[in-house]
Amino acid sequence: MPDVMDAVVNLCKRRGFIFPSAEIYGGFRSAYDYGPLGSLMLRNVKAAWWRSMVQLRDDVVGLDASILSPPAVWKASGHLDTFTDPLVDCRNCKERFRADHLKNTEVCPNCGNKGTLTEARQFNLMFKTFVGPVEDAASVAYLRPETAQGMFVNFKNVLETSRKRPPFGIAQIGKSFRNEITPGNFVFRTREFEQMELEFFVPPAEGPTWFDYWCGERLQWYVDLGIPKERLQLRAHDPAELSHYSTGTSDIEFQFPWGWGELEGVAQRTDFDLKQHAQHSGQPLEYFDQATGERYVPHVIEPAAGATRSMMAFLLSAYDEDEVNGEKRTVLHLHPRIAPYQVAVLPLSKNDQLVPPAREVLGLLQPHFMCDYDQTQNIGRRYRRQDEIGTPLCVTVDFDTLQDRSATIRDRDSLEQVRVPVEALVGELRDRLAL
Ligand code: ATP
Repeated sequence: MPDVMDAVVNLCKRRGFIFPSAEIYGGFRSAYDYGPLGSLMLRNVKAAWWRSMVQLRDDVVGLDASILSPPAVWKASGHLDTFTDPLVDCRNCKERFRADHLKNTEVCPNCGNKGTLTEARQFNLMFKTFVGPVEDAASVAYLRPETAQGMFVNFKNVLETSRKRPPFGIAQIGKSFRNEITPGNFVFRTREFEQMELEFFVPPAEGPTWFDYWCGERLQWYVDLGIPKERLQLRAHDPAELSHYSTGTSDIEFQFPWGWGELEGVAQRTDFDLKQHAQHSGQPLEYFDQATGERYVPHVIEPAAGATRSMMAFLLSAYDEDEVNGEKRTVLHLHPRIAPYQVAVLPLSKNDQLVPPAREVLGLLQPHFMCDYDQTQNIGRRYRRQDEIGTPLCVTVDFDTLQDRSATIRDRDSLEQVRVPVEALVGELRDRLAL
């Protein structure tokens, strides 16, 4: 198989998953736009996370906090002082690197010159902006570099309004921004990206148990959505790697074409954040247990995942090339829950007699599934087009449909074809998709 990374990047562009941003102006430094199919898939990845983390539980509530936030939040969280990467410049070729990503600090990995790399200096990754018309120190704000702080600063509000008690969690999905020194590897590392984070608040003594629980749950989420187990691993950080707030972190890593890379970090944030915000804001952030009379600051377990980065992992692991009837085909074996379309409705041909019943079937299915409709080209090519974008099931309307009011369901992976009465399609498709 050719280089999978190239093949997936190419497919993303060609079929409308992901485009370089502002491409007509030459692109904008590793920023990306999600096209018709990519925006569907990204929504599906986020919806699958929300379903698993919020909908299927009664101990997690949602939040959608502001992206712009005042310096006080980032002072308390430690990001203003410590959310930095070590930046190194090459005096010869002017290329920039993260010192912690360099294997050898003597030689420039770009131009190969010896002794041209500068000393590392700490570079804060937060994007700074100004709120209001005056660009002075009093109007400074930051774009959030993680969604987590939104949950901590709202801890009291959520506790009081949701009537939850530890152990309970607050979940949020949204954009985060980091002025990364070396973005790259497609959407693996971008300056604007989307995160899916849970802050799970527990009685302090229960921290380690819940940490193990969330490591297991989160790893299984990727497996359930189709990433083979052997391409995933849980890697514990060594003490030097730990963030300033963490007493233990394990990364869920995926085997990318260039090696293992983080999809999600599960961290024990202890009571660091709540205590910091309580101290800086002067507002107590604690839980009073009326049953026991105990008052405590909960500890926090945080599974923090990237939506855009995991979408890339789903695409890479779903990509395959095989042969059908002696013809090469490209196929994305995407789980039905995250595929852009669940169903494609295809009239056997553009024939005037077939289009109306095909459109009728489309109308019948659209309220239940995200559907594509395609009547151009021959049917074999249209199946290939759907395989290539990962559509799990096609429904074909042919001349027999006019007589027997049945249609053919064709399965992307098994290539099995079954005949089903139009009236039974919704139920049959639902069973087969197992959404
Ligand atoms: P890395 O070590 O790769 O920089 P991190 O450990 O700083 O990542 P976290 O702060 O733990 O990342 O963020 C949680 C998740 O958010 C990551 O596992 C990743 O999926 C996603 N993420 C973080 N930074 C980026 C980025 N620049 N582009 C895309 N996704 C990102």
